[in-house]
Amino acid sequence: MRAGVLALQGDFAAHLAALPAGATEVRTAAAIDALDLLVLPGGESTTMLKLLDGSGIEEAVRRLVARGGVVFGTCAGAILLAAEVRGPAQRSFGLIDVTVERNAFGRQVDSFEAVLEPDYPGVFIRAPRIRRVGPGVEVLARWKGEPVLVREGRVFAATFHPELTADRRVHGLVVAAVGTAREASAAR
Ligand code: GLN
Repeated sequence: MRAGVLALQGDFAAHLAALPAGATEVRTAAAIDALDLLVLPGGESTTMLKLLDGSGIEEAVRRLVARGGVVFGTCAGAILLAAEVRGPAQRSFGLIDVTVERNAFGRQVDSFEAVLEPDYPGVFIRAPRIRRVGPGVEVLARWKGEPVLVREGRVFAATFHPELTADRRVHGLVVAAVGTAREASAAR
């Protein structure tokens, strides 16, 4: 499996450490075209959008999903993948049918840790909140009943940071989806 982490900005190094050995930093559309799994890290989504401008990376991410690859966005990465962004509104890829509101926990609760359902450790840093989940979207984890880890087909999005804990179960789910997608395409 060829896994990569978009390394333009944000906490890409933590994701690299959380992925199986051999995962690489990627910074170009061509590098993404060689992957089976791409992680979009946390950071600052507005800055990421500026850096992405004219790079062809958004199109490469679309191609990856279309050819059976898997994408996982955490926090700012989830904001990039969403269908709709509020607080304020900004451009997004529209690869997962959710509406997210940026920085939605307010200033007082800038960052916090909580145990999710199921019992994943949840580290939230100026996190977005998922305000709407489309009918094709599966909720894989919740915090106080609200979705924090979602999946639509081969696209995963988390509003928290599984890469900042030692618990590798969430990355494990995403890596397992690469295998499932491959078997599905081999059977066709
Ligand atoms: N608040 C950031 C944004 O809107 C996301 C924060 C994060 O990725 N930790 O892009």
